[in-house]
Amino acid sequence: MHVIYGGTFDPVHHGHLRLALEVSERFGNVPVNLVPCHVPPHRGKTGATATQRQRLLELAIVGEPRLHIDDRELRREGASYTADTLRQLRNELSAEEPLVMVVGTDAFAGFDRWKEWQQISNLAHIVVVRRPGAALNPEGAPAKLLAERGVKSAEALFGQASGLALELSPPWLDISATGIRERIGEGRSARYLAPDTVLAEILRMGVYGHAL
Ligand code: ATP
Repeated sequence: MHVIYGGTFDPVHHGHLRLALEVSERFGNVPVNLVPCHVPPHRGKTGATATQRQRLLELAIVGEPRLHIDDRELRREGASYTADTLRQLRNELSAEEPLVMVVGTDAFAGFDRWKEWQQISNLAHIVVVRRPGAALNPEGAPAKLLAERGVKSAEALFGQASGLALELSPPWLDISATGIRERIGEGRSARYLAPDTVLAEILRMGVYGHAL
């Protein structure tokens, strides 16, 4: 099974890292590939560069053999489209290998606005991680997809290469990258929200508006 978990990771924090481990464990300790996405320059100048976000991810996963980084979206020019990433991976994996995309309910709520979203649900299984406070509109296409393709057990995803959906509700740490950027920008501590190594490197690099 090949699992990807995409995000901006600006910066990576304990919410992302715990979730990745929880998902890994649900599937019998499979590796989870963190896929940092390309961020368009207009997203705001306080964010870290691609190289910096990747560096922070590398520090965050030190010593954790289940977590990996897949930097293909950073290496690709232009916008990051999940459909392109999944198609590439599908070509690299054997036809029978289950490919799983992990996404929070907040991101999945707008899934029908993603490029080629119907293709995505054929290229991979979708694991939707319930985020407290983020609900799906029951009439919307994402909720319908979950109802039509949804399975109840993690084991079911091993039985075919793609096309199923699974909802998981692991414990969710109430941490956001935005909250970390704000704290650092204001010169406050972000300790215990992200690994110490990540926070020290943020200060050393002087990103998010505050330098050592
Ligand atoms: P920002 O505050 O900049 O919007 P974020 O903390 O929400 O960032 P992203 O990189 O945008 O993080 O999110 C990537 C993925 O991680 C999304 O699928 C999102 O649902 C999920 N995610 C975000 N925060 C958490 C958290 N606290 N625990 C688990 N998953 C999270």
